[in-house]
Amino acid sequence: MLSVEDYRAQVMTGVTALAPIEMPLIDAHGCVLATEVSAPWPLPSFDNSSMDGYAVVSADLAGASSEHPARLTVVDDVPAGFRATEVVVPGVAIRIMTGAPMPDGADAVVPVEKTDGGTDLVQVNEPVSLGANIRLAGEDVLLGDVVMYPGTYLTARQLSLLASVGKGSVLVHPKPRVVVISTGSELVEPGTELRRGLITDSNSYLLVAAAQEAGAVAFRLPPVIDDEDVFMSTLEDQLHFADLIITSGGVSMGAYDTVKAVLSRLGTVTFAKVAMNPGMPQGYGRIGPSATPIITLPGNPVSAYVSFETFVRPVIRTMQGHKDIYRPYVQAICEVELASPPAKRQFVRAKFGGADKATVTPVRGQGSHAVGGLSQADCFIVIPAGQAAVAAGATVDVIDLRNW
Ligand code: AMP
Ligand code: MG
Repeated sequence: MLSVEDYRAQVMTGVTALAPIEMPLIDAHGCVLATEVSAPWPLPSFDNSSMDGYAVVSADLAGASSEHPARLTVVDDVPAGFRATEVVVPGVAIRIMTGAPMPDGADAVVPVEKTDGGTDLVQVNEPVSLGANIRLAGEDVLLGDVVMYPGTYLTARQLSLLASVGKGSVLVHPKPRVVVISTGSELVEPGTELRRGLITDSNSYLLVAAAQEAGAVAFRLPPVIDDEDVFMSTLEDQLHFADLIITSGGVSMGAYDTVKAVLSRLGTVTFAKVAMNPGMPQGYGRIGPSATPIITLPGNPVSAYVSFETFVRPVIRTMQGHKDIYRPYVQAICEVELASPPAKRQFVRAKFGGADKATVTPVRGQGSHAVGGLSQADCFIVIPAGQAAVAAGATVDVIDLRNW
């Protein structure tokens, strides 16, 4: 049996970030930036008003109060997107809206709330300090500043900045295209009639969703029966398209374990036993003319999910261009005593609890088929190989699954 680390190192060998492509900015959402971006203009790019109000010479309002308001002649009106055609001189104001360029001569903006709102003549009830309510050019970002580095994950916040510096498209690592194929003659589509002995294919939904949560664009195929020719032709159809193929089922010691039987013969796919529970039978390799990576997961749903988290998610994240590809261990207090077969690393499905979410409790239903238990879990308690038990109240390593 291989350790989790040794097997994972084999699976990760030769896996690299997908070659960068230029993408329309909106499609780059959720991708990893492959280039440095600098600002071709400062942000803001011109001095502008941060309030709806009046651009003034601040000295004009030195003694203004509601009893003795200052009175200014309004000579112009600038909405956002326009420039003033007049200048501000002592005794004069220009009505201005948020985001409009500061008129020449003005050194402050009085918010409309501090005035009577006049359009020809305005009364101002308060003084204003020099520079008030002006957003200065470059106060956020300077011309030529590097605003983003390669490796940046592009969320809504980053798209906002890229758009602001004029990037209509950007060079990113594309999201890997992942194809998920469930195998098993017992599988039917959810929503269709369940005859005795059949079950619904849940793994393809589990794995497509998990792949998407990991950052892939994932595609689901209808379940494939345990037939070598059907499986092979289904696989071949996907080879020209997929960056990664994930299969579920058919990799154990059963008589109809088609995936293992067919792929073993190719000589490019390795099957192994990994010292983990659940998820011992595993396989990975490359197939087809482009040596497309394939990872063959066990069919039991919980095994498939633990295996996905352990081996497939790091592959997807690497292809996507991430540097931090593993979920870190966090520590928590285990509320109950646990026994653990010491030959294997245990991934106990558990739930955070306590006021500060600092404790963990195993969910009910720890079988590798137990999708009910899995749906309750938001973490794995990880018990290392070699350890036979965990005492109640002990600190344990936990993989937090609450964030994608
Ligand atoms: P296998 O790895 O093919 O031997 O399957 C192990 C167990 O997982 C069996 O009980 C299968 O019925 C079940 N199983 C396999 N594939 C799926 C699937 N796609 N959805 C739900 N259960 C599955
Ligand atoms: Mg099967």
